[in-house]
Amino acid sequence: MGKRKSRTSKLMAQPKKKPKLDTDFTCPFCNHPGAVQCGIFLKGRRPFAVASCSICKEAFATKANALTEPIDVYSEWIDSCEEANEGVIVRRPRLGEARN
Ligand SMILES: [Zn+2]
Repeated sequence: MGKRKSRTSKLMAQPKKKPKLDTDFTCPFCNHPGAVQCGIFLKGRRPFAVASCSICKEAFATKANALTEPIDVYSEWIDSCEEANEGVIVRRPRLGEARN
């Protein structure tokens, strides 16, 4: 209750967590935190965005527009990964069942 003053000034000093946009994400392939970087290229006739992992070199490219933000590119990548996973059902041998 007694810390109202500092709380207010803290909020005003930090409109966002970081001064720059968050462009580093956890890689959906190697799960390396901060390894994915997004780039948005709005110049040219077909603006696009790319997300790529600096660790395992996986990359994803998609269409972009002026409203596209790095988090959009990243979440699209995640979505496409999930779709791919649903399409391919990985059958793992169940050792526990086999043993019975
Ligand atoms: Zn990776």
